Amino acid sequence: MLKTFFRTKRPVTIGSKPWAQQESNTQRRKMVKHRIGVIGLGSMGNGMCQSLLRGGFEVFGTDLGVPQRQAAEAIGVTLVDSIAQLCQQADVILLSLPTAQHVKQVIVGDDGILQSAQLSTLVIDTSTSEPDVTRGLAEQLASQGHALLDAPVSGGPSGAAAGTMVMVIGGKDADLQRAKPFIEALSAKAVHLGPSGSGHAAKLINNLLCAAHLVTTAEAVALGQKAGLDPAKLLEGLNAGSGRSAVSEVNFPRWILNNGFDSGFTMQLMRKDVRLAEKLCRDLELELPLSEQVAKIWAASEPTIPDQDDFNCIVKTTGLET
Ligand code: NAD
Repeated sequence: MLKTFFRTKRPVTIGSKPWAQQESNTQRRKMVKHRIGVIGLGSMGNGMCQSLLRGGFEVFGTDLGVPQRQAAEAIGVTLVDSIAQLCQQADVILLSLPTAQHVKQVIVGDDGILQSAQLSTLVIDTSTSEPDVTRGLAEQLASQGHALLDAPVSGGPSGAAAGTMVMVIGGKDADLQRAKPFIEALSAKAVHLGPSGSGHAAKLINNLLCAAHLVTTAEAVALGQKAGLDPAKLLEGLNAGSGRSAVSEVNFPRWILNNGFDSGFTMQLMRKDVRLAEKLCRDLELELPLSEQVAKIWAASEPTIPDQDDFNCIVKTTGLET
């Protein structure tokens, strides 16, 4: 089953080496099924559990929310009631949590991973989090013989469920090798950027760009509407030309032009990411005028676009007619 699954996907690359080519089919067949514990069974966590289960892994999970627990149980996740119980079941633990504060709480807080972890536990944090918090947590875990990889993801709930996410990873090579079977089940492409925190920095940079593309593309389409152009035709032209982006190729047709606004990624989470990218610029004493303007636009949307609305709703703050 695992073999068939690999064949259907593009090879995962770390640096320039396709992982799928690094081991023979015979080795892969001999690979034992691993267990993994998942903390955070929300939109992304649920999708990742589906991919891990399909990849043949035994998946244990926990979440504070009853609906999330029920949905996870329905797809075959074995639920546990506490992090301590999760740690008894698995020495590899994947996190999919809203913010760095949640990640911190779950790792070093009362009854957190650090208190109950098995010897040499590996934590894979797929949350979009803060590089400096990540580095601190990695040090704390390492001081007790454990390890942390920051492995934030792109691709949304559908990519998580299909196992086709992109992962940008920070941490040590040896830990990445240990995480390899799980990362292969979750992603179509994984890029190792460097030491702890690198993945989270790269993810914030990616989301700042996406946040900017949503605004600039909406303004471009609004301009086209005023000039008498059909938005769908304009996008068809743009997407064949140099003005295209993932936002123009995917977000506009899939979630914006059809008024769907149901990507599964919220305004609250994207506003968080833009704020964190802005903080990264400040911490590094960089002046990036266009990025600052993008951050202002996203912050200014707070009173008019509720946290739980789809992140694509930011286009409604431009002159775009939807
Ligand atoms: P979500 O809110 O749907 O899921 C987070 C889950 O964590 C919730 O179910 C919540 O109950 C649970 N949780 C919080 N604290 C907990 C604790 N102490 N113990 C157990 N469970 C706890 O969020 P999401 O959309 O799945 O996003 C998760 C992360 O992935 C975020 O950091 C987000 O920025 C990132 N991300 C999301 C998307 C997307 O499209 N949704 C895409 C890429 C990255």
